Amino acid sequence: MKILVVEDEPKTGDYLRQGLVEAGFVVDLARNGVDGLHLGETGDYDLAILDVMLPRLDGWQVLAGMRRAGRDMPVLFLTARDQVEDRVKGLELGADDYLVKPFAFAELLARVRTLLRRGSRSKEAEQMRVADLELDLLRRRVTRGGQRIDLTAKEFALLELLLRHRGEVLPRSLIASQIWDMNFDSDTNVIEVAVRRLRAKMDDGFEPKLIRTVRGMGYVLEDDAG
Ligand code: CA
Repeated sequence: MKILVVEDEPKTGDYLRQGLVEAGFVVDLARNGVDGLHLGETGDYDLAILDVMLPRLDGWQVLAGMRRAGRDMPVLFLTARDQVEDRVKGLELGADDYLVKPFAFAELLARVRTLLRRGSRSKEAEQMRVADLELDLLRRRVTRGGQRIDLTAKEFALLELLLRHRGEVLPRSLIASQIWDMNFDSDTNVIEVAVRRLRAKMDDGFEPKLIRTVRGMGYVLEDDAG
């Protein structure tokens, strides 16, 4: 699942991004309101976390702009000001929840999970399945044939990406930009290594094999991968 964070305070932004990535989310971080609104309008996010006091456009304006663009993802506001008028204004604009700074990361993560659960329209949005493999997107758990499989955050994100594009060959460059937030460099074998580890965990000892390498192109997940 993908989260947009708009926070101008460098330490808070980095801390949020790191914590959310470690919890298994894909995170884009914008450090001002204009960049945040641009990402919010054009990207496909499951949730946005917006600071209120931001340079260029404030959090309210970012939220209003995203709603105008038809983006209806849940929005969590971070505010240093614990004031009633802020809450009312935010609710009128369509904010879903608030957190007053400073906050504990565990509290933020709990709010994020609640919002994602509320925001997802059906069970399918929380759980993905192919053959006997199941992903629980909220709890970040994977089972195959009912057996729990422990994945790292990156492995989970990689598996989720492959599953969302089931049957499509995903080029390494796309995987690199989506999961590692980097431009693809053909000298690096970080993706090959990650795919190999993922397969060892979820395909070794199971049938059918779900992930297939398409030589010179990339990887595909399908239930007749052979
Ligand atoms: Ca701020």
